Amino acid sequence: MQPKNTTKDQAYKGFTHRACPFYPCHQGVRREFNCLFCYCPLIAYACPGPYQLYTDKHGLVRKDCSDCRLPHDGYHASWAFIQKWLEKPEIWDGREQIERYRKTERER
Ligand code: SF4
Repeated sequence: MQPKNTTKDQAYKGFTHRACPFYPCHQGVRREFNCLFCYCPLIAYACPGPYQLYTDKHGLVRKDCSDCRLPHDGYHASWAFIQKWLEKPEIWDGREQIERYRKTERER
């Protein structure tokens, strides 16, 4: 197996599963729709995504990521986003989204 940091083939960064019955599961994706992070690696970590909170049937507070495009918008961009946020992951403590992201979204 060739290490990913020496190969020129970057197919590992994403794919689009157009036959999926949920595709496209998130609206507003402009680049290649990346399905690689369908189950987001950041679900248990602090992240900059626009998640909402909900309480599941077991009473656990969870993220509702319906409005988030970050792990899906472009193979390269979403790959880079996930790698960046996994460099120093912080366990998500159940808090609402941080204000920093909301300001960033408003400024766009
Ligand atoms: S809000 Fe976005 S980045 Fe954060 S866990 Fe959900 S899908 Fe991942």
